[in-house]
Amino acid sequence: MNSVYCYHCMTYHPPEAMQKIVSGGRARWRCIRSIEASRRPVSERDAFGQQQSQRNLAQSQSLRTQAFRVTGSRKPLPSSMTSSN
Ligand SMILES: [Zn+2]
Repeated sequence: MNSVYCYHCMTYHPPEAMQKIVSGGRARWRCIRSIEASRRPVSERDAFGQQQSQRNLAQSQSLRTQAFRVTGSRKPLPSSMTSSN
């Protein structure tokens, strides 16, 4: 049986996917996937969410400016507003 017990997943993984962790003077094996998952900062996930929301915001903003341009070209500002002084 060519697998190593992962104390994090409490199951066995192939040894090439494992990394030795020494904690409290005891060597334990944990899979790299779980280590990477816990190491990844929360900000990275937040940044992804912000990117998504920013994209949505930009989309809605461009839609708004497009709508403004369309109405602006069809209906120019009344002359009374610019030459009333
Ligand atoms: Zn694991």
